[in-house]
Amino acid sequence: MDKFFTQKNCDRCGKDLSSGRIMSMFNKDCICMDCKEKEREDPEYKKAADAEHEAVKRGNLNFPGIRK
Ligand SMILES: [Zn+2]
Repeated sequence: MDKFFTQKNCDRCGKDLSSGRIMSMFNKDCICMDCKEKEREDPEYKKAADAEHEAVKRGNLNFPGIRK
């Protein structure tokens, strides 16, 4: 998690993160907003979001995501 706030480039496309960063819904990648937009269009996005939601409800605040 420390890396999340200090890294300079998107884990997925390498873009500069100065315009915004967010945690991937599928894994622990730190990604740019463009990549987040692409994730939202992924057919499995809802499944990933639901899985994360379920994990948090069970008290797992460190859910690693459904993809490696
Ligand atoms: Zn990106």
